[in-house]
Amino acid sequence: MENVACNLCGSGRHTPVYEMPDRRFFREEFFTVVECNQCGLGFVNPRPAAAEMQKYYPREYYQNPPTTSHHHYLKRRFTAQAAYLEELGHDGGRKKLLDVGCANGEFPRFMATRGWNVEGVEVSESSQRITDFRVYTEEFQNIPLNEPAYDAVTAWAVLEHVHDPMAYFRKASRLLKQGGLFVFLVPNFGSVASRHLFCEDIPRHLYFFTRETVRQYLEKTGFTLEKEDNGRKIYKLAPNNWLAFMVRTRLLGKKYSFGDVPLTSKEYRRVHHLQSGIAAALKYAAYSPASVMDRMLWPVIETAQILRKSYGVSTYVARRGLTKKH
Ligand SMILES: [Zn+2]
Repeated sequence: MENVACNLCGSGRHTPVYEMPDRRFFREEFFTVVECNQCGLGFVNPRPAAAEMQKYYPREYYQNPPTTSHHHYLKRRFTAQAAYLEELGHDGGRKKLLDVGCANGEFPRFMATRGWNVEGVEVSESSQRITDFRVYTEEFQNIPLNEPAYDAVTAWAVLEHVHDPMAYFRKASRLLKQGGLFVFLVPNFGSVASRHLFCEDIPRHLYFFTRETVRQYLEKTGFTLEKEDNGRKIYKLAPNNWLAFMVRTRLLGKKYSFGDVPLTSKEYRRVHHLQSGIAAALKYAAYSPASVMDRMLWPVIETAQILRKSYGVSTYVARRGLTKKH
């Protein structure tokens, strides 16, 4: 474990926001999420050092059996992701995309069918080997390129996983042509789900961003923020236990800590060795009726959050250059 200063402003002063364990793999290991007193960046501190992280990405983390509905879901997601790059247009010549954290390469492959020249970056050894386009296997900041050669760099749910987000912003800035786009999705630390409901995948998620901290990262690295989309088209972060949280904090004036959080239905099935199905759903409803009620409210709560730009994840579109300072 290591203690770190703020990655954005360098300050060593921060305040604890919440404590929670690694819910997926090591439920006995607790971590603290803090908020920088100076700039508001959220981060896990202390945290496992880079060399200790492998343990938290076991093989099961990458297992995601493909199903038909999964393919439909991916197509919808990729179409939503591609829409952010459309404004670059087609002025003859093929545009060049670098997808950071490309996993098995499905998004770049999708963009290739839309006429893009694609490359990827992926450090995970558990991903399948990609042979149809170039993939760099080092950490993004270490890949052997330093020239502005790309029209777009994308990073979908990547920056919250890395140990040095600033190095990623800098590298994206270096590799993009003037006017090129950096498009990325990150957790929204201004949301109830990210900040209060213990929904973050800790310690795989190490950083939590707000509109303001993203704006500062971009300003320091030569970008102009063009757009923030706060919604669930690409990835979702359901406001799990929103109802219980509101009742406990707003109505009863108490603190809502991890000990107050019921198991999710998936966790419940795992603990009780149940297959998913009606019987398991009924048992879970008896175990936590509030969760079932909460679940019914999600569509309403999520829609309200998206309208108020307080949903759990945000997609940002930033343009290289075009600022007064740079
Ligand atoms: Zn800071």
